[in-house]
Amino acid sequence: MNPSVILDGKAVAQSIYQKILLEVSLLSFVPKIVFIRVGEDPASQSYVRSKEKRCLELGLRGETIVLSEAISQDELIEKIFNFNRDKDVNGILIQLPLPKHLNKTKVLQSIDPLKDVDGLHPENSGLLLQGKPRFVPCTPAGIVEILNFYKVSIQGKRVVVMGRSEIVGRPMAQLMLNHHATVTVCHSKTENLMEELKRAQILIAAIGKPQFVKAEMVSAGVTVVDVGINRVDGKILGDVDFEGVKEKAFAISPVPGGVGPMTIAMLMKNLIIAATLQSKKT
Ligand code: NAP
Repeated sequence: MNPSVILDGKAVAQSIYQKILLEVSLLSFVPKIVFIRVGEDPASQSYVRSKEKRCLELGLRGETIVLSEAISQDELIEKIFNFNRDKDVNGILIQLPLPKHLNKTKVLQSIDPLKDVDGLHPENSGLLLQGKPRFVPCTPAGIVEILNFYKVSIQGKRVVVMGRSEIVGRPMAQLMLNHHATVTVCHSKTENLMEELKRAQILIAAIGKPQFVKAEMVSAGVTVVDVGINRVDGKILGDVDFEGVKEKAFAISPVPGGVGPMTIAMLMKNLIIAATLQSKKT
């Protein structure tokens, strides 16, 4: 068997950044995104720093607003409303997770849907469900970009999505359906999981269980996209046993360096879409 294709998310992200640089140079203004971080979670700090840095590299404006862990829901929503009204702000991102006393759904719903660059507002989820996407959540959108870049055809294929979270699994399944795949969604209650996985021509693993997917669970020739980010003994592991599964797969994404780099790239792409939509509105 030929060696499997490694789906290199860094390379795909770079190609997207090249396009964004061109698009930014054609705009008559510099788009601005506000990152709202509540509390001092170290992972959130690092994610927001990377996003801000990327904005700078692309000639975009990124501003981080750090709010106290103790902020009330009403106060947070009032801050969001202020950014909704601010015409200088094109995109608003709430860094998740939020502290437990804040209602994530209510907070996300308070973002102006035209500034919702993470694509988590119900209006944007609804548009995706209707097959008319505006802002698609960044991780699933990035996965489609990777598959397109490597010319892995989606149409008509049996796609199995492992995981049904709001941020990855559900929008992923919907997006695959919009691309004319035959989609199965598996989760923790799925019976005969192995049988379902074996049927996959494209398998997307997003369950947050280190190296859960083993070679014997997949069919030869499958394309595997590993979304998992699991920190184990100081190492980052995916949801797939990369070394084992690689031997059977036609193509496979590594962790790190697969889906991860795409998430910020798609956020930047969504910011350009937001800025363009808003400039047409005024
Ligand atoms: P999540 O909210 O914890 O959801 C996990 C999903 O996996 C749930 O739907 C759960 O089923 C399902 N699941 C758990 N164990 C399972 C099992 N043994 N068999 C089948 N399904 C199982 O996680 P998430 O936010 O979607 O994230 C998933 C992984 O992706 C995590 O490792 C996360 O760090 C990573 N991630 C990476 C990126 C990136 O940029 N690369 C972005 C986001 C997330 P139930 O619904 O039945 O509980």
